[in-house]
Amino acid sequence: MQENLSLAERDKKHLWHPLTQHKIASDALGIVKANGVKLYDENGKEYIDGISSWYTCVYGHCNEFITDRVATQMKNLDQVVFSGFTHKPAVELSEALMKILPEGQQKLFFNDNGSTATEIGIKMALQYHHNLGNDRKVMLAFEEGFHGDTFGAMSVSGLSVYNGAFEDHFISVERIPVPNGDNNQAVLDQLKQLIKTHNVAGFIYEPLVQGAAAMKMHDADGLNEILKVCKENDIVCVADEVMTGFGKTGKYFASDYIETKPDIVCMSKALTAGLLPMGLTSCSQKIYDAFYSDEIAKGLFHGHTYSANPLACAAALAGIELLTSEEMQSNIKRIENLHQAFAEKIKDHPKVINIRHLGIIFAFDLNVKMERYGNIRNQLFSYFMENGVYLRPLGSTIYITAPFITSDEEMQKIYDTIEGVFDKF
Ligand SMILES: *Cc1c(COP(=O)(O)O)cnc(C)c1O
Repeated sequence: MQENLSLAERDKKHLWHPLTQHKIASDALGIVKANGVKLYDENGKEYIDGISSWYTCVYGHCNEFITDRVATQMKNLDQVVFSGFTHKPAVELSEALMKILPEGQQKLFFNDNGSTATEIGIKMALQYHHNLGNDRKVMLAFEEGFHGDTFGAMSVSGLSVYNGAFEDHFISVERIPVPNGDNNQAVLDQLKQLIKTHNVAGFIYEPLVQGAAAMKMHDADGLNEILKVCKENDIVCVADEVMTGFGKTGKYFASDYIETKPDIVCMSKALTAGLLPMGLTSCSQKIYDAFYSDEIAKGLFHGHTYSANPLACAAALAGIELLTSEEMQSNIKRIENLHQAFAEKIKDHPKVINIRHLGIIFAFDLNVKMERYGNIRNQLFSYFMENGVYLRPLGSTIYITAPFITSDEEMQKIYDTIEGVFDKF
C-alpha cells in the first residue's frame, strides 16, 4: 500500500523539513538521483542544480573521483574518536588546507556543520579574551549577516522575524552596516564608537558576499579598514567563509581579496564537496597560544562525536585536489567570464536591478512592484522548476551558484530560463 504512494506523499507522515511552515508550504519534491550538475526527481524530470545544492557540490554531484576515494576510506577506517586519536585523512587534510587557507592560519578544529563552525569561532574569540583575563564579552557583527542556527550563530546573525522565540537567550551582539564604498567612513566612525563604549571581544563577518542576505556584496577596501581597526584593538576577526570558501569567489577564499587577514576562518558546505557533513574552524597561532597552558580549564572544551570523521576528511581532501587542479581553476575562470558577458547583456533591462557577481556567484534583483514581493519568490521558484532549472530565489533576488563543472550549454540554459522571467513577471 505504502509502496504505491509517491515519496512526496509518504514524506508528509513523519518528516519535518528545515525552514518550512508546513501548513502553507507545498509538498517536498522526491529526488531519486543526482549526477554532475543534474538532479532527477521521482517522476523522471531532470533539473540543472543552479545553486550546487546550497553551495556544496561545486565539483558536481556524485563525482567519481571523490566517491571512489571515500569508498576506499570507508573500507579501511570508518570512524574513530578524535580526542586522543588521530588518523591519516585528518593529518593529510590539515596539510592540504594549510597550503590554501588565508595567510596566518595555523591550527584546525573540527566540527560538523557551518553553524558549529561559526559557533566555535565565536567561542574561540570569547575564550581567547577570557583566558587572557580581559573583560570582553560582546561580539560585533554585520547587520543582515547570517552565521547559522545554533544559539551563538543565531545571536550574531541579523535579527530575523524567525528568531523571535529565542532572542531573550542571545549572547551580547552589536551590529554595524556593511561598507558599500560611500558609507565607509561612517561605518568606521560607528565601529570606533562601539569599541569605546563596549567591551568587544570579536568581530564575525561573511567576507565580501553575504549569502543568506540574498548574495549582497560589499566593498573590499571598506572591509579591510574595519579589520585593521579591529586588529589594532585586539578584537578577534572571525571570517565566516562557510559560503564563500573553496573557490566560489574566484579565489580559494574571499579573504584572499582582502589585505588584512582573519584570526579565525569558519568552513563547511563545499569543504566536503557536498558529500558528507563536516565543518572546520581554523585559527592563527596567536589564538591557539591563548589556550595553550598548564591549566586544563584554559583548553577549548568543545567536541563533537563525529569530529574529523575519516570519510568526511577523505571527501574534503579529494575536493581540495580537484579545486587546486588546473582544470577546475580554468572552469572557474570560464564561468566567471560567462557571468560577465551575461551581466553585460541584461544589465540595462528594466526588470534588472543591483546586478552583482564575483567568481561563480551571480545575482540581481528583479524589479517588481513591492506589493508583489511576498508571493513573487514562490512563483519564480515554480517557473524555474517547470523549466528544469533548480534556482532558489531569495525574495525578489535571483542568484546562481552552479557547480564549477557546469558546461557552457548548461549555463546558457540557466541564463535563458532567467531571461524567460522578464516577460512573465
Ligand atoms: C550556510 C551557512 C552557515 C550555516 O551552515 P549550516 O551547515 O547550514 O549550519 C553559516 N554561515 C554561512 C555564511 C552560511 O552560508
